[in-house]
Amino acid sequence: MSTPGTLADVIAGDYCVGCGACSFAAGAEAVPMRFDSLGRHIAAPGADPPPVAAVCPFSGQGPDEDAIAARLYPDLPVHPEIGRHALTAAGWVEGGDFRAAGSSGGLTSWVAARLVETGAVDAVLHVVPVDEPAPDEPLFAYAVSGTPDAVRAGAKSRYHSVEMSQVLRFVADGPEQRYALVGVPCFVKAVRLLQQRDAVLARRIAFTIALFCGHLKSRAFAELLAWQAGIAPPALAAIDFRHKLPDRPASRYAFAAAGRAGQSVVRPMSETLGGDWGEGQFKLNACDYCDDVVGETADIAIGDAWLPGWVEDSRGTNVVIVRHPALVRLIEAGEASGALVLTGIDPDAVAQSQRAGLSHRRQGLAWRLHRKAERGEWAPPKRVPPSNDLPDNRRRIFAARLEIARESHAAFADARGAGDLDRYRRRMAPLLARYHALYRPGLKQRLGAKVRKLLGR
Ligand SMILES: Cc1cc2nc3c(=O)[nH]c(=O)nc-3n(C[C@H](O)[C@H](O)[C@H](O)COP(=O)(O)OP(=O)(O)OC[C@H]3O[C@@H](n4cnc5c(N)ncnc54)[C@H](O)[C@@H]3O)c2cc1C
Repeated sequence: MSTPGTLADVIAGDYCVGCGACSFAAGAEAVPMRFDSLGRHIAAPGADPPPVAAVCPFSGQGPDEDAIAARLYPDLPVHPEIGRHALTAAGWVEGGDFRAAGSSGGLTSWVAARLVETGAVDAVLHVVPVDEPAPDEPLFAYAVSGTPDAVRAGAKSRYHSVEMSQVLRFVADGPEQRYALVGVPCFVKAVRLLQQRDAVLARRIAFTIALFCGHLKSRAFAELLAWQAGIAPPALAAIDFRHKLPDRPASRYAFAAAGRAGQSVVRPMSETLGGDWGEGQFKLNACDYCDDVVGETADIAIGDAWLPGWVEDSRGTNVVIVRHPALVRLIEAGEASGALVLTGIDPDAVAQSQRAGLSHRRQGLAWRLHRKAERGEWAPPKRVPPSNDLPDNRRRIFAARLEIARESHAAFADARGAGDLDRYRRRMAPLLARYHALYRPGLKQRLGAKVRKLLGR
């Protein structure tokens, strides 16, 4: 098992996810946040930063997800893959346009908007598009939405690096108000670590809402998608990563991009280079060292119901894990009023909806940790122990994913600099071909299938 690391270890090992918790804790002068040339937020501490690694979700200095959740929800049952849970369900928002406007069933925006509407919080901290983003700036950023309409307008998933130090400073330095924060699991964990040492944040961030998370991506993801549809990186003005296509299953969604000249394009993800989530192009390296897929430290965690019976519906369906008693009541009241249509599902089914992500973060993570240990390199301590005990083919798949993620950042920066998309295509093609070949049945299996067919079995 690895030992806890310093901020310097986290940054040197490329484990910084760019959340900004250390920058908030240390102050922007001691630890500024930088948006780097690869399109990722990274902490950039000065020569002698204060010791703030305890708030970093990847240093391993603070308590892990199990310990945090045990302190917050001591009475709830624990599931090995989805953590503590009071209520687990699948469904969508029936009332208003939440479902149509959301990535999935619209539940995240509905919960956040209801918290504002009922006065449980004054505002929501979530991620919205940046107005007229400069070509080298982020396309999305955390914002404060103080009305249900503003919360609703911020719907949709942002598969894009963001940081929260500025919005946390706004919360801490502003008037005595209560907030709900929406974030991917490592961001919520960072908030929990901050709350343990900061009574103001503990009081003012009254609710946390996690989005299930496969991984975070750099800005290059948006740029690659749009570029293939004719909008080159400097011309990209806006992107919606989750455009629903009425004639396809919810999982077969499209992206919609807009250019500065007013042009707009819609393309199915499945027909676009980069759109295969499993390949992990532009994945942040930290994400390969995370073992929390479903936001185990959040008051409520929401994802996509990638399950038979729901995935077929293009309008989108959520899965939800509720932990905070006030949010259990909010959800139950929503269902009773007809605003929400929910079906109780058991925790195993919630885990099943994230099977691919969980396998990458359990079996895959164990192997990646083993590989780090073998090389004598520091890796964050994780709840998953290092292990090399996996089938050869799985090892090759996980190794190929690491290579794809690493190469994609450099290859895209090169292609972007040259203004030549084909340079990216050419550099990635052999890696992607090798990766996909690992999923094709081998000669022996193909012959076996043929023989069985001939024999009528
Ligand atoms: C990086 C990332 C990876 C994801 N991976 C998975 C996955 O593997 N499996 C899965 O089931 N679901 C995943 N999700 C969640 C999924 O994409 C939907 O966001 C979720 O199902 C909620 O849908 P909704 O219709 O309820 O949300 P909506 O009503 O569309 O509301 C989404 C809310 O989340 C906020 N938001 C969007 N992006 C971010 C962000 N990056 N950080 C903080 N807040 C944000 C928006 O501002 C809005 O308030 C991921 C989301 C993100 C951002």
